[in-house]
Amino acid sequence: MSNIAQDQWSRVKGRLRSSVGEDVYSSWFARMDLESVQQQSVHLSVPTKFLRSWIQAHYADRVLTCWQAEIPAIDRIDLTVRSAARCVTPVKDTTTAADPRRATDRDQTRPAPELRVTASAPVSAGHDALGGSPLDPRLTFASFVVGRSNTLAQAAARQVAEGRRGDNVMFNPLYIHAGVGLGKTHLLQAVTWAGNANPDRKVLYLTAEKFMYGFVAALKTQNALAFKEALRGIDVLVIDDLQFLQGKSTQAEFCHTLNALIDAGRQVVIAADRPPADLESLDDRVRSRLAGGLVVEMGSLGEDLRLGILKSRVAAARTHHADFDVPAPVLDYLAKTITHNGRDLEGAVNRLLAHSKLNAQPVTLEMAEREVRDLIRPQEPKRIKIEDIQRVVARQYNVSRSDLLSSRRTANVVRPRQVAMYLAKTLTLRSLPEIGRRFGGRDHTTVLHAVRKIEALVSKDIALSDEVELLKRQLQE
Ligand code: ADP
Ligand code: MG
Repeated sequence: MSNIAQDQWSRVKGRLRSSVGEDVYSSWFARMDLESVQQQSVHLSVPTKFLRSWIQAHYADRVLTCWQAEIPAIDRIDLTVRSAARCVTPVKDTTTAADPRRATDRDQTRPAPELRVTASAPVSAGHDALGGSPLDPRLTFASFVVGRSNTLAQAAARQVAEGRRGDNVMFNPLYIHAGVGLGKTHLLQAVTWAGNANPDRKVLYLTAEKFMYGFVAALKTQNALAFKEALRGIDVLVIDDLQFLQGKSTQAEFCHTLNALIDAGRQVVIAADRPPADLESLDDRVRSRLAGGLVVEMGSLGEDLRLGILKSRVAAARTHHADFDVPAPVLDYLAKTITHNGRDLEGAVNRLLAHSKLNAQPVTLEMAEREVRDLIRPQEPKRIKIEDIQRVVARQYNVSRSDLLSSRRTANVVRPRQVAMYLAKTLTLRSLPEIGRRFGGRDHTTVLHAVRKIEALVSKDIALSDEVELLKRQLQE
């Protein structure tokens, strides 16, 4: 594809990202790729049917508008599910392994060939009635690098993986949350591999999508009972990307399954891109059940961890490409500049490998700078949480957080509470009902009232407007 098209695509993605916000963008669009641009239409692809139908139902217009801002003549977007066997780039003497999850996430700005000679085709966890989601043989504990931001999550995951049938379950469910590319899937698959190494234990890894499709498909074939039985017959249920769980009946089923497993002393491990309290579409009972185990957040990857991940990736590549070598200064450079997430680190190593193979040239700093230029992104704005807002506002106005959540109506708490709700609406992507719920179970109209009130006041009241600005700055630091 031409560079022009790729540049256009990067700009469109940028627009989309700022239009829907980072959370939505990374949930739904991170895996969308550009296939081609015609005069009036654009062909895009996503890895799963589920993503396609969701994007079509909710974001079709938005995507079109973002393209029209780039090329006004575009009047149609074709969205297809890309086949697993798509080859990214023809690379001699290697097989491009078919693994849709790996197809680079965001930028196809330059071909990022998957240089893997080993059979890394996904293998199924192999529980027939259910059919787990594909596992990637590279995602094991051995290749998971531990650093400050993930020590606790890794330790808890190890503990779970090493448990035996009949052992007391220490924390259930184990709930791991983190932003995109910070290692959730890696850790969950490591648990699955390690757990299944023990022959008398059944660990089932499912993406939330798979859970939904399994259930829906089972219902269609009147086989729901068998599905439930199969699910309940396993020792450890691992569910990835829980934020994608949608639909009332699937949720109800998820809730039953969760309760049944936990009550039977089986382990449940879950990953999502947000804490349980922020899973807006789940009902309260499920949320509190999820929050009742161990909830661990994995933070962003620090520089040491990034360096460790790069080294481990290079070492893995060297087992098949012995002459591939990345000098220490290049590794340092990459660890310093590619700050966003693990996928970009992986992408960078793949590019260097591709480049050095295709051109038969050693990796140098200049080459690395050129090859990874577009992976270097400005620091993402911080993900602000409602709790942080409540804490900072309470401190500023010298009230307690529980005052903010209480039903007290004295002026000294009413105003701070309104300010906090206003900030929650403007600084997070949470909906009004969700914000109401997080402020002591208030109605969404109360939140709306507060937002309007503060909006109106800041336009007149300079002191208040300064206060609000100050609060925003503290939160965004
Ligand atoms: P998530 O599921 O959180 O979006 P992934 O588990 O898919 O993220 O990780 C993205 C990439 O970064 C993968 O290639 C993964 O192997 C790598 N990665 C992330 N964290 C680590 C880590 N601690 N050690 C090794 N590799 C990591
Ligand atoms: Mg993942």
